[in-house]
Amino acid sequence: MYSGAGNAQLTAKRSERQPAVPRCSGRYKTTNLSLWPDLNPGSMVQHGAKGGAKIVGSNGSNGNGVKIDLSANPADEIKTTTCYMCACRCGIKVYLKDGKVRYIEGNRDHPVNKGILCGKGSAGIMQHYSPARLQAPLLRVGPRGSGEFKEISWEEALGLATRWLGDVRHKDPKKLAFFTGRDQSQALTGWFAQQFGTPNFAAHGGFCSVNMAAAGLYTFGGSFWEFGDPDWDLTKYFVLFGVAEDHASNPIKAGLGKLKGRGAKVVSVNPIRTGYQAIADEWIGVKPGTDGMFVGGLIHELLRTEKIDVGYLVRYTNAPWLVINSPGDADDGLFARDEAGKPLCFDKKTNQLADATQADVVPALAGEFTLPDGRKARPSFQPIAERFLSPSYSPEAAEKACGVPADTIRRIAAEIAEVAFEQEITLDVAWTDWAGRRHDKMIGRPVSMHAMRGISAHSNGFQTCRMIHMLQILIGSIDCPGGFRYKPPYPRPTPPHNKPAGKHGTVKPNTPLNGAPLGFVTGPEDLLLSPENGPERIDKAYSWDAPIAAHGLMHMVITNAAMGDPYPVDVLFMYMANMSWNSTMNVPGVLKHLTAKDENTGEYKIPKIIYSDAYYSEMVPYADLILPDTTYLERWDCISILDRPVSDPDGPADSIRQPVVEPDRDVRPFQTVLIDLGARLRLPGFVNDDGSPKYPGGYSDYIVNHERGPGVGPLAGFRGNNGDQYGKGAPNPNQLDEYIKNGCFYMHHLKPEQRYFKHANKDYLEWAKEVGFIGSADPIIFQLYVEPLQKFRLAARGHGEIQPPDSHRKRIEAFFDPIPFWYAPFEGAVLDTDEFPMYAVTQRPMHMYHSWGSQNAWLRQITAQNRLYVHRGRAEALGVKDDDWVWIHGAMGRVKAQVRLMDGVNPDTVWTWNAIGKRSGAWGLDNDAPEATHGFLLNHLISELLPERAGGYRFSNSDPITGQAAWYDLRIRIERALEREEQQTSPRFEPLKSPLKREVAEVSTFGVEFRGNNS
Ligand code: SF4
Repeated sequence: MYSGAGNAQLTAKRSERQPAVPRCSGRYKTTNLSLWPDLNPGSMVQHGAKGGAKIVGSNGSNGNGVKIDLSANPADEIKTTTCYMCACRCGIKVYLKDGKVRYIEGNRDHPVNKGILCGKGSAGIMQHYSPARLQAPLLRVGPRGSGEFKEISWEEALGLATRWLGDVRHKDPKKLAFFTGRDQSQALTGWFAQQFGTPNFAAHGGFCSVNMAAAGLYTFGGSFWEFGDPDWDLTKYFVLFGVAEDHASNPIKAGLGKLKGRGAKVVSVNPIRTGYQAIADEWIGVKPGTDGMFVGGLIHELLRTEKIDVGYLVRYTNAPWLVINSPGDADDGLFARDEAGKPLCFDKKTNQLADATQADVVPALAGEFTLPDGRKARPSFQPIAERFLSPSYSPEAAEKACGVPADTIRRIAAEIAEVAFEQEITLDVAWTDWAGRRHDKMIGRPVSMHAMRGISAHSNGFQTCRMIHMLQILIGSIDCPGGFRYKPPYPRPTPPHNKPAGKHGTVKPNTPLNGAPLGFVTGPEDLLLSPENGPERIDKAYSWDAPIAAHGLMHMVITNAAMGDPYPVDVLFMYMANMSWNSTMNVPGVLKHLTAKDENTGEYKIPKIIYSDAYYSEMVPYADLILPDTTYLERWDCISILDRPVSDPDGPADSIRQPVVEPDRDVRPFQTVLIDLGARLRLPGFVNDDGSPKYPGGYSDYIVNHERGPGVGPLAGFRGNNGDQYGKGAPNPNQLDEYIKNGCFYMHHLKPEQRYFKHANKDYLEWAKEVGFIGSADPIIFQLYVEPLQKFRLAARGHGEIQPPDSHRKRIEAFFDPIPFWYAPFEGAVLDTDEFPMYAVTQRPMHMYHSWGSQNAWLRQITAQNRLYVHRGRAEALGVKDDDWVWIHGAMGRVKAQVRLMDGVNPDTVWTWNAIGKRSGAWGLDNDAPEATHGFLLNHLISELLPERAGGYRFSNSDPITGQAAWYDLRIRIERALEREEQQTSPRFEPLKSPLKREVAEVSTFGVEFRGNNS
């Protein structure tokens, strides 16, 4: 179990024993911003002239009677914008002095952070002044990977990109693979791909958390994180599943603070007890990838003890809908429907079949009923209850799989039930449901849950996440007071109605796609398949390999393109995705693919690679043409309702970034470059009828004037000629000024009666339809039983015109179960677990966000080397001591790392911080930076492909339903390195040559230049 002492010791030792960390001068240390009196009016702390702090008189004197102006303005100007040091998108105020960024603070008015600024956010200054920033467009002149480039002008760069892209569009648009990383402009990038005409587009969701998004959207029309939050103000019992620090940083910290402040119980289910888990009241240290069995055990107990909210199931879910029980038939397992297509239930009031969507039915949740054609059907709740009441999900069975004692599972289930049903919350807020029925109060079950990548990054993540949602729904805690709350524009229909475009035959030269490349399939007829029944997309999304790949499979693009499977591409165009290093599986293999040449022609197998990044990341040297991006403080951005906005459960919100400083390099914002390329390529929508650019002002012009539908644009606030319309309205030329005046965001506050039960709340649904969030005000019905999955199963059983190839039938049949279930993560299932007995996972450090943060001069002071964290007892058994170097063996090879022992980790699990390890020569760091010599990546051990099956085919190492990268399935063993071996990480790759011409200072003296009268 966790020991606080163990962690304290861990902290102390880390600072003692780290390798040489980036150096900072004494002066540098005195620039600790929290000590600056002039930034903290009224502070009692003042730096002496030579650094160090001394106490000043409360009257503002320095103790020697000399008056000091405690209110001196530290800045010439303060500008609001939005942080981009992680994906939370907090509001910030940037203090500018002499045209430079001096200080960043949180914006107290902002709905996301309410003034809180985390360490990453403060360190945005070093991100902005990073020595790794690219300086100008680059054209590769040496071999790929050599880092040999020449600087070219933007005109040359854009001309070349236009030629390459234009050729592809003219011949076969799908030969452009356009994939972006963790950018925040997918509404624009997706639209570019659509207008270009390629289906081969996605952002990073496929290797991030698409399992969470898809499971939520197919089940209840929302999801954790961006689409919803726990009701931090009213929750009394909070269950946090898996690694979650990587998303929702400040908001979760603030929320947890509220829970702890009023004594709500926090339970963390996670193999590792760090970060948020460390303040949990109870830590459940499951084995990675077995959370589903823990949840299954809870569901079993709740059903067994009849602690479920039957009224909620009847009102809001498809639990009463009748499922045809006719094995062998083409509609077995589908919902029985009437002639109008309405699902049927058995109405106990009339003892007849009835339209299940009617408000006045009293439907049965169990039993077997006869359909008009004589066949039998059961309410979907019946097979659900049967499954989870079976011995397969008993607490004892769960204990066997996840290692959590059966008694603990029973106790947690009882606690959840007690809080949900004995401590219900009543708000004196009257509301009207979808059927027009008036309710005096809002009644809530104050149990909430949250999960992110810890659940998502497994090959069983979709079904596991579905089980968590089933648990929430069974106790009636979706969008009720104290439960999980949607953030508008969610909820949306289950699933949303947009289908992926790009069916075979619809992709044509010089022609836009007939829809957006990404969407939600509801049956085999929506798949994107080649005439040979193979994948139509380069990443194999929406094929039989990954039918519900709602975010694509970015992690497969390079491998597939280089192998020509399903076909080669001409141009790979990527943005902000470090795909040759920490964002890829199988780093050595991917580097080979990036440099592989055709034996006959001698040309690279991926002929042209265009890449945009702000920094000299490990990906840059493997591209041919570099379009250098700005930092987040130098550009316009739009965190759009059309994309992934910054809403609050009490109201939708969106925000912008404004350039607070001008670039001092020859760089341009990627979004403006993309709009420029669209105009040069004469893509519809990017040009006027006369061929002139439609948005000559770049991204800010687009943000204001682009309309996706009549009156609907990227920003929802301040629309209309007078800026007084919300959601829909004509473009407002002053919109950006209005946002800036408002702190660079706009939040619409829902009325109290609209704030809960949004899925069935008439006032909310009608308003959401009016502003364009949803197409109809019909209630959103939770899908405990997901019929689209059964349609795939039926196809696998030989029904329908579109069926999987024989090689895929068993897989589809096994995993596309409409009722969630747990199965062992694939790597553990296919490997010899005696040889690889341990699990290995990564977490993102709270103070860093991917590789951006781990190159940041201030944040590197905190962590410049990642360790392999091993359970103390297990290490002893293996003869491994603190600080030892060990080999981590996986099926693909081995990696050397230095060990740190701890108590708060599942004994069968090792873990490390993600993306600290860097390649020598990248990121403007010294070749012998600790990140390169001592930091390591587990990525080298994670295969992007599963082992060969009969016939030689290799599926991607992903969830078989959504294609989500299964990063956390990794199995390993560790072995102490020999004394004589070098105490450095391995493998190490050739140092990259750097095209950066800037002198990199040995010692950062940031802040010295600002010391004048104010210091
Ligand atoms: S939580 Fe993320 S967005 Fe917010 S201040 Fe920190 S780094 Fe910036």
